[in-house]
Amino acid sequence: MDYKKHITVVEDWPIEGIRFKDITTLMQNGGVFKQAIKDIVDYAKDLNVDVIAGPEARGFIVGCPVAYELEIGFVPVRKEGKLPREVVRVDYGLEYGKDVLTMHKDAIKPGQRVLITDDLLATGGTIEATIKLIEELGGIVVGAAFFIELTELNGREKLGGVDIKTLMQY
Ligand code: 5GP
Repeated sequence: MDYKKHITVVEDWPIEGIRFKDITTLMQNGGVFKQAIKDIVDYAKDLNVDVIAGPEARGFIVGCPVAYELEIGFVPVRKEGKLPREVVRVDYGLEYGKDVLTMHKDAIKPGQRVLITDDLLATGGTIEATIKLIEELGGIVVGAAFFIELTELNGREKLGGVDIKTLMQY
């Protein structure tokens, strides 16, 4: 599947110099969106995943349909102040800015095999922070799946030995 032709590259958004990869045009095409999710479902099946975790907001778009198809749980990784119960938290830097990510303390049980999902791997900061949260709770990150990888930013290097699946590269 040529997924790239369904991505819209938006120049200078959200700030000058960024060539933003807009996945909403891929999502507008139900057949293409379904195939992209299916590719990640197949990947997750090979890894024997127990639970999926994805950072807001586009990590939900990728991860929820995969979790639904596999009949396993989905854990939302959220910005500070969004989750109502006790959380673990981590500071992280992203491609443009700084932030905090949190996860409910009871979201992942020790020893569970976790797949992380997001729309795009850039510097890897978001996923590095997500890995820290999962490992703090005793989870084992067995893979990370993305629609898009920006290869020049070398995000893979930040993710240590974690196995990575991406559907397209820029
Ligand atoms: P990283 O933490 O790997 O530097 O940045 C990845 C995060 O930033 C992802 O959560 C992703 O949603 C967002 N992001 C950064 N650049 C883009 C982009 O060009 N397109 C999209 N869709 N998301 C981006």
